Amino acid sequence: MKNDLMANDVFRMASTQFDRAADYLDLDESVRERCKWPKRLITVTVPIQRDCGKTEVFFGYRVQHHLSRGPVKGGLRYNPNVTLGEVAALAMWMNWKCALMGLPYGGGKGGIACDPRSMSPGELENLTRRFTTEMLPFIGPKTDVMAPDMGTNAQTMAWMTDVYSTYTGHLVPSIVTGKPLELQGSAGRTQATGHGVAFTVTRAFYKLGIDDSKATAIIQGFGNVGSYAALTLSGYGVKITGISDITGAIWNPKGIDVEKLITHVAKEKGVKGFPGAEAIDPDEMLTQPCDALIPAAMERVITKENATKLQCRVLAEAANGPTTPEADTIIEERGDIFLIPDVLCNAGGVTVSYFEWVQNLQHYQWTEQEVLTKLETMLEKTFENVTHFAKTHQTSHRVAALALGVKEVATVKATRGLFP
Ligand code: GLU
Repeated sequence: MKNDLMANDVFRMASTQFDRAADYLDLDESVRERCKWPKRLITVTVPIQRDCGKTEVFFGYRVQHHLSRGPVKGGLRYNPNVTLGEVAALAMWMNWKCALMGLPYGGGKGGIACDPRSMSPGELENLTRRFTTEMLPFIGPKTDVMAPDMGTNAQTMAWMTDVYSTYTGHLVPSIVTGKPLELQGSAGRTQATGHGVAFTVTRAFYKLGIDDSKATAIIQGFGNVGSYAALTLSGYGVKITGISDITGAIWNPKGIDVEKLITHVAKEKGVKGFPGAEAIDPDEMLTQPCDALIPAAMERVITKENATKLQCRVLAEAANGPTTPEADTIIEERGDIFLIPDVLCNAGGVTVSYFEWVQNLQHYQWTEQEVLTKLETMLEKTFENVTHFAKTHQTSHRVAALALGVKEVATVKATRGLFP
């Protein structure tokens, strides 16, 4: 299994990042091995009847990296390229992210290899319900709490809540987070990841002496994370000059009207053809001059090929794993780019998920203001911890963030001891 995981590009990348942090911490070999490999790798088949009458079998995955610090936490993604190796890498990143933020969770991630854009709402509902049923032996508010990720949303979480609650015999809202508000979701959860991305970008601007109202940003990806990051940043006065999604990329040096773009995307299912901007090649967009470049889509998009050409002051990793280790080395050597690593940059989502879970367990609802204020306090503290660690230890922000997260997990593993 180790070799199977290592054959996957994304897992190899997460593993290289972990090794760098573990070397840095000089982790004891026993703890190191236990930290690195996932506790449970679950693969299920998910058969559904398509609208055309044909039966189709999809593959679904859930990887629970560790349960040492609490239940595992992490999203469920629907994407044609999902594999077990990718999900295992994403679960490992969730593990360090939760530990870095001080959340009482291990990391988890799930996925179904499917193309949600080509499926009807009924097909997606059946897929979600059957996957949740297959997961029943492995999930629970104290063992594994899922959330939205790429290709899933609050509706997906509502179906999962319904299945779990039906089997339990009463409503169990704490089984997932990112639920609709009427089903005891949390105020602020939908915008939390994008809001957190925007918050960390403005913290980086502040450190670099960049004025928000004179700054520009380019965003790759206009899903939940990219669109809320764009909206929040433009609310702070930052001009969004480029935005891309799978339909294409658009460019306007005077700034894109994000609200109008959201309306356009709701109608046209993509940014392509937006009248308030010109078309640009999506790869070229990434290397245009800007203050913040925000990859908010897939893994491995900042590579050794484009890392030398980047013209941004801040690279804000809204996606998980957007920068390859080779590109990381180039960025470190260049020394002119302020990297906000994924485990910090996009941690707003899981942090508000934690708030949602706490509210559900307490049968209590916080206001949006309370949620966002608590989120900013936690992000601010972690941002300072990471930048302070990097400065005092003369290391990169990536190594600093991962080292802080890994150390937390390693300490718990060492304290609990090896059983039996
Ligand atoms: N899918 C999000 C992430 O990658 C959120 C996970 C959660 O809220 O549990 O961080």
